[in-house]
Amino acid sequence: MSESTDVVVVGAGVAGLVAARELVRAGKEVLVLEARKRVGGRLLSEDLLEGVPIEMGGQWVGPGQDRVLGLIAELGLSTFPTYVAGQNIGEFGGTRSIYTGRIPKLNPLALADIGQAQLRLDRVARAVAERDPWLARHADQLDGQTFATWMRRHTYTPTGRAFLRMVTEAVFAAEPEDMSALWAAFYVGAAGGLDALIDTEGGAQQDRVVGGSQRIALTLAEQLGERVLLDAPVTELTWSDGELHVSAGRTEVSARRAVIAVPPPLASRIRYLPGLPGGRDQLVQRMPMGRVIKINVAYSEPFWRARGFSGQANSDRRPLGTVFDNTPQDGAPGVLVGFFEGKHADAMSRLTPAARRAQVLNDLVGYFGPAAAEPIAYLERDWAEEEYSRGCYGAFATPSTLTRFGSALRAPIGPLHWAGTETATRWAGYIDGAVESGERAAREVLAALEGRNRAAVD
Ligand SMILES: Cc1cc2nc3c(=O)[nH]c(=O)nc-3n(C[C@H](O)[C@H](O)[C@H](O)COP(=O)(O)OP(=O)(O)OC[C@H]3O[C@@H](n4cnc5c(N)ncnc54)[C@H](O)[C@@H]3O)c2cc1C
Repeated sequence: MSESTDVVVVGAGVAGLVAARELVRAGKEVLVLEARKRVGGRLLSEDLLEGVPIEMGGQWVGPGQDRVLGLIAELGLSTFPTYVAGQNIGEFGGTRSIYTGRIPKLNPLALADIGQAQLRLDRVARAVAERDPWLARHADQLDGQTFATWMRRHTYTPTGRAFLRMVTEAVFAAEPEDMSALWAAFYVGAAGGLDALIDTEGGAQQDRVVGGSQRIALTLAEQLGERVLLDAPVTELTWSDGELHVSAGRTEVSARRAVIAVPPPLASRIRYLPGLPGGRDQLVQRMPMGRVIKINVAYSEPFWRARGFSGQANSDRRPLGTVFDNTPQDGAPGVLVGFFEGKHADAMSRLTPAARRAQVLNDLVGYFGPAAAEPIAYLERDWAEEEYSRGCYGAFATPSTLTRFGSALRAPIGPLHWAGTETATRWAGYIDGAVESGERAAREVLAALEGRNRAAVD
């Protein structure tokens, strides 16, 4: 099949679909090429039990995420609050604590240590996120160290360090040794502070989409209709100034502009003819994906609620370090969602499925007692095994990447424009960031096309 269009969009995740929607609204012809046989990318619902769809990818939205909240409302979807009533469980520094609210019960020294480290991180994050992070005042100093180095310098207690490591794993699905301190500060600043990232009530985990977050992508795709082509992995992009030709399996498309809305490591797996400038390629060589295995476990009822637990549990010693209540809005079945993140995902991916399931149940029993040993359904997804994600939650920058190559993150190259949550300035890594990036890429394309039209008229 050979087609011709104004704009080709690579990837039918939220970023690509939003870009396509904006371009169609502006009267442009658009074709979205999606490698998978489904839309949504890192958003995915699967049936945990018959008729009980559950989120296996991105799911929560929260205050301050105005773009995605606006989109959800516009698409006629709605949200409901994550269950938070009852007590949380925290296991840090060898102590188990049962607590309400945000702060686990820790010894006062550790609490003070965490508090002052957070103050410092929030202050530096605010400054970094005010402009492009590579232009921030202390950018070189921050980018010259890993987040682990920064943590060692700014925490003084083993429990404080263990807590911040657990937070890093939960937020980035990566280890603090993996990433640049500048990237960590940017990410925190782009969300408005660390509390916004880690809080349930009042933070990024506050709400869920009724029916699952993939409905955002499914509804957008429904509205785009035949403009979305599935099972069309883009392998080659031949471009010159102002024109391009795209190969995607049996489909060949000519277009004037392209929006490439895939995570950075996957953008580098497409062949570009001519090859992209060195700086852009160096950038994407240094932005790996995080690693997470997400697990949903169903019980006939949310038994932990009756025992006064919220279902939220965190641990610095269990592989399943983060757990939430993920019960559907109508309250049945009871569902717990847990995550193996960073190095825990590495270790767990080497187990057999049966051994991994046993580890999940062992950790859930450790948190909530023997009733957790008797699930009625179990689903897991290792996002590093997905050919068209190769990890999650998102890509991050390694040290010295943003200061040397960050300016290539969003800069168009000829007719090629870059979208995807990793290119966002607010809530990078989140669904909200994906929406921002799609809108921004669409604006860039429109400005370029209209500029060219004006030149033709002149
Ligand atoms: C387990 C998990 C939990 C998460 N939790 C949250 C959360 O609670 N809240 C939140 O806001 N975010 C969360 N996220 C992150 C969120 O899902 C992402 O930020 C967001 O979905 C990214 O959208 P995107 O469009 O930028 O990228 P993607 O969704 O990755 O879309 C890229 C698309 O491009 C396609 N593609 C790749 N290569 C090609 C190619 N060569 N040709 C054609 N198509 C291609 C892919 O198949 C995919 O559909 C989570 C992610 C995961 C995986």
